[in-house]
Amino acid sequence: MRISQSNLKNGLGVAALSMAVSLTSGNASAGVTDADIVNDQANTSDIVHYGIGPQGQRFSPLNKLNTDNVQNLQPVWAFSLGGEKQRGQESQPLVRDGVMYVTGSYSRIWAIDVNTGEEIWEYEARLPDGIMPCCDVVNRGAALYDDLVIFGTLDAKLVALDAATGKPVWKKTLGDYKAGYSYTAAPLIAKGMVITGVSGGEFGIVGKVEARDAKTGELVWSRPTVEGHMGYLNGKENGITGGKANVTWPGDMWKHGGAATWLGGTYDPDVDLLFFGTGNPAPWNSWLRPGDNLYSASRVAIDPDTGKIAWHFQTTPHDGWDFDGVNEFISFDYQENGKTVKAGATADRNGFFYVLNRENGDFIRGFPFVNNITWAKGLDDEGRPLYVDDNRPGNPAGEKKGAQVFAIPSFLGGKNWMPMAYSQDTGLFYVPSNEWGMDIWNEPVSYKSGAAYLGAGFTIKPIFDDHIGSLKAVDPKSGKIVWEYKNPAPLWGGVLTTAGNLVFTGTPEGYLMGFDARTGEVVYKFNTGSGIVGSPITWEQNGEQFVSVVSGWGGAVPLWGGEVAKTVKNFNQGGMVWTFKLPARNVATR
Ligand code: CA
Repeated sequence: MRISQSNLKNGLGVAALSMAVSLTSGNASAGVTDADIVNDQANTSDIVHYGIGPQGQRFSPLNKLNTDNVQNLQPVWAFSLGGEKQRGQESQPLVRDGVMYVTGSYSRIWAIDVNTGEEIWEYEARLPDGIMPCCDVVNRGAALYDDLVIFGTLDAKLVALDAATGKPVWKKTLGDYKAGYSYTAAPLIAKGMVITGVSGGEFGIVGKVEARDAKTGELVWSRPTVEGHMGYLNGKENGITGGKANVTWPGDMWKHGGAATWLGGTYDPDVDLLFFGTGNPAPWNSWLRPGDNLYSASRVAIDPDTGKIAWHFQTTPHDGWDFDGVNEFISFDYQENGKTVKAGATADRNGFFYVLNRENGDFIRGFPFVNNITWAKGLDDEGRPLYVDDNRPGNPAGEKKGAQVFAIPSFLGGKNWMPMAYSQDTGLFYVPSNEWGMDIWNEPVSYKSGAAYLGAGFTIKPIFDDHIGSLKAVDPKSGKIVWEYKNPAPLWGGVLTTAGNLVFTGTPEGYLMGFDARTGEVVYKFNTGSGIVGSPITWEQNGEQFVSVVSGWGGAVPLWGGEVAKTVKNFNQGGMVWTFKLPARNVATR
């Protein structure tokens, strides 16, 4: 069911919404459908999926708000995430029929009336002692399907709530939190299924992608992302990942091989494939695991019907720097020699930007998107790194500490989790990147369940005097950086771009920033009172264009940032959803 714009205008709020739901229950149009999700980008009145559609382009065709009038954008309400648990708000809100669903730190979620900013309900997961999130108590967003709101928790559970009441409908376990599994990503919805990865690569877990019936939570398939582990489909064995064990891993190392799928994935209905990235091989000390260590630090394309790996592309074979290959793989088409190329792009932790054929994973091109990369000279014709052997941290070989190296980028990456955006108008990717390096060394380590499994030590350091963060407009056809905005603190929030020639992102300094998508000129700046590490959205309601972003400093930088953490230690934590719109008098037709 869809509540009409006129209903909303007449002030019928949530009561009317829930009544309408119950009146139409059993009606095929009730709730969020697969078609709604596939059409999320084109239907500008709602945001029903993370990434503004399962392809994750984060592009809105709305242009009422544009470079001519964005300076008039004003806050209409701000909603506090409350309590004492205000840190690391990495969430992207969803909006459906005038209700916003937003997750917060410590596995909490709210429904908010978009017209008033008032709370409709709150759900807080009861977390056990002993959860082991590596990189702050974050949550990146929820999923909507049918009349359910689905989100994951730090103790590796997946919870489906009734969208009208916030009451639990089903709950499933994704992994054993005592062994280091956790969950922070927004779940992906594809073909009636909710599709998830897992976090825990620093604890020697085994990465996997799993599909469940979104209405019931029943497991459909499970696909481990480390070679040697068995997959399952409808409760039956469905083939060992990679065919057999010990091809690209030595001895028993594959048993705790990491490759955590912690950032979730994207789905492209056009080629009917799921795209998931995989994290570092475990442990970090690469001397303990000679070989490529498949399918760590890779992008894997998975058949959504069977859970079989259709293709893979490994960005950092035999990773030795914690260059997780989890970053989002974004579908886009472009024209070349009169033909449409079905491509996908990803900006890796390792500092290289890759364009692949999204039908078969073939390497099209790759180029650096950050400066001064030390660990590789470049990429070969198949996209494999040309290693600088001296820049791999040295083998401890019985000593307490191997030779230390200074490597660029740092392990927090040329780009970390924060999602980039792709504009269908400019053909550019807007990449939130960071320019930094690290001292890194290896140490001996052995696996122990529930303990950190690194075998490495590190200190992150800036490499430029005036900035670490760098928002870059990247041309995926030429490899050219078209414009760059330098930010003093590391960027840690997602990006949004619109047909109004706008790019939005947030900064740890607290600003929601707007840029001219073609030139990079700063066209908007508003201080939200705490660092922004969330992902902005825009939608249209009652004929007006809204923008929302969650503010609340935290995430991995203050925890792991070494010398960089010192430069951000005075930033205030928070937890606030800010919603903006353009006053009606400022809307000019273009
Ligand atoms: Ca990692």
